[in-house]
Amino acid sequence: MSKWWTMPLRAITLEFPASDVATIDVKGIVRESIQGAINTLCVFAIGYYPGGTSYYQSKIAPHYPGLGTRDLLQEVIEAGHQNNQKVIAYVASIWGNAEMYREHPDWAQRKANGDVTSWDEQYNSVAMCPNSPYHDHLASIVREIGENYDVDGFYFDEASFQSWCACQYCQEKFRRDTGEDLPREEKWDDPVFQRFISWRYEQITRWREELYNVAKRDHRCVFFQGAFPLAELSRSFGRVSGIQFENPYQARFGVEWHVPLAHGTCLAETARIGDIVHFELYRRAVREPLWWYSVALKYGQSIARGKRLLTLNMMAQTPFDLHGLPEAELQISIAEILANGGDPLFARYYPDRVDKPAWDRVYSILKEMSSLEPYLTHRRSIPYVAILYSQTTADIMDQDIHRTSHLGCLKGFAKALLKSHILFDVLSEEALEETIQDYKVLILPNVACLSEKNKGIIRRFISNGGGVVASFESGRYDEKGRLISQEDLSDIFGIEYDANVPQWFGFDVYSRLLNDGEFVVEEYQDRPIPTGGIQVEVLPKEAKVVARVIGSATVHYGPLNEDTGLPAILINQPYGKGRVVFFAFPIGNRYLEFGVPAHRELIAKAVLWTAQDEPPIQLENAPQTLSLTAYRQHTQDGECEIYHLVNSLYDEPINAIEEVTPSKWVKLVVKGSKEPKKVTSLTHYMNLEWEFHQGVLTIRIPPITYHHVVLVEY
Ligand SMILES: [Zn+2]
Repeated sequence: MSKWWTMPLRAITLEFPASDVATIDVKGIVRESIQGAINTLCVFAIGYYPGGTSYYQSKIAPHYPGLGTRDLLQEVIEAGHQNNQKVIAYVASIWGNAEMYREHPDWAQRKANGDVTSWDEQYNSVAMCPNSPYHDHLASIVREIGENYDVDGFYFDEASFQSWCACQYCQEKFRRDTGEDLPREEKWDDPVFQRFISWRYEQITRWREELYNVAKRDHRCVFFQGAFPLAELSRSFGRVSGIQFENPYQARFGVEWHVPLAHGTCLAETARIGDIVHFELYRRAVREPLWWYSVALKYGQSIARGKRLLTLNMMAQTPFDLHGLPEAELQISIAEILANGGDPLFARYYPDRVDKPAWDRVYSILKEMSSLEPYLTHRRSIPYVAILYSQTTADIMDQDIHRTSHLGCLKGFAKALLKSHILFDVLSEEALEETIQDYKVLILPNVACLSEKNKGIIRRFISNGGGVVASFESGRYDEKGRLISQEDLSDIFGIEYDANVPQWFGFDVYSRLLNDGEFVVEEYQDRPIPTGGIQVEVLPKEAKVVARVIGSATVHYGPLNEDTGLPAILINQPYGKGRVVFFAFPIGNRYLEFGVPAHRELIAKAVLWTAQDEPPIQLENAPQTLSLTAYRQHTQDGECEIYHLVNSLYDEPINAIEEVTPSKWVKLVVKGSKEPKKVTSLTHYMNLEWEFHQGVLTIRIPPITYHHVVLVEY
């Protein structure tokens, strides 16, 4: 049996809870999906509201009200299979209805204060705990579907904690597993609380493994929700016309943690378990700009290890889910997903009363994109720069709002590289050892907590000639969040720490580049560059200081004080080969927060200086809005390279992107190239002008509105 899920997917989910199940024209909806070259249908078998109700004739789960004798799961299977589409049973994994809650109040997940997580006051959807007997209830439903329906897979949504959970089963199990009482308060530096956090991950990982085993058959693709990677839930949705809206999603948890942590979902473990990886990237809910897709999906590629990365994309103008997004946002979000190794998935929340023109647009874009299919498999991102994402640091450090976040620093670095058109990937801590040698530069964006092992890998990488760009507190703590003065990375940074805690110097603080001849950013020589005030106090040992902090003014517009002598940027060559740039202030966070161009240029300069080699692919005459990703593909026909250019780098975190400005003619320059046989545009079905001279391939690309995919065949 072929593993059909290893091929590019174009998927939709038919969400039935808001439809009229008595009258819905399932066949018609499935027939229409052919317009979008949809090859995978996720169909609601078990829904979230009322919790745990079925859209098929279940003998175990209560039927969705009004279902009558219909079996929507069977109807979709028949209609989909007639079209050669794969049909996946969608299972909302943790929700029970009011009846279940009344009969088994002990099955419900509990917040730290004992409250249940319910969608409404009538308990129509209550989160149930996988450590309770609910576990067996759900498994029996999965068996029922698996044995009676010809489904091609299972999609387990929200198989997670949607609360603290402090239910009696979790309390008992935690005590059995650890000998401790289950904590009820956030204490990030407390070993028992840290054990609780890792224990939550373990519970969900184990449950997902069990669900996988119950559901898996050779021909079935089984996967799990991966909600909001590299993003945080914010408490407030903001004010609308004077009314303060709370984020209902955040209220479920009663905590303000980053999402995978709140869910108890280790995304890397989930990627290991499932046949494909699923990411949910609703940027509006987590207030992220569209380019967050690219950063999240690059991380996804690192944990997916070649598995496909099905990406749930926003379709509607959330929270107005009946009203579709404008064409520009749909075009560039789909292009961004494909450009970063993802496959698009859209949810039809109101399948029988959708915004027809918007869906027609989605279908027509997907149909057009289906021609890219041969170029979306067996490809590897062309390596140049790697950014390390440390879940350990995000879990331990980023939950404390008084600390400078790792995630913010990472996004700032990523944004600077995107806007500078410098190729990069995001690596997980687990992937570091296996992949780092492929890259010229490793960026440590305030990666405070690092294991001894990963520090060793970083040292080896530099001693082999690799470059490192690090900022702020990188490497000062172990993987438990303990400050360690002996085995930090100060030896490779060539510095000595002068204080244990980063110092706040006031807001109006600048640094000045010293003209040392080696690390020069022409445009900013002799110009004050903001540092943003906070930094680690360091003294140079082997390192050379290339920028120093100027004393801050006592008041804004007041006279600046004397040069403090404190280093802001240092460079080092610890083993005589590899180069290091160390930013004592959190330059990534500052760039993310303020967008100061000097910070972007300093980051780009640091990367190029430590790489000791030009980027393999460069853009000329390209606007900063253009993102670049590049892949190498080996097929039976030979070798080729594929470049995606997407006009997607806009900072709007809330509103939809309604219009983009087309680029001018862009030049794409490939260094160290062989002479190609052919250069074509895969999106515009044309040959492109190119020239080849002394190992340098130059391609001219006509103005880009949304995106352009270039194929170079050798
Ligand atoms: Zn529990």
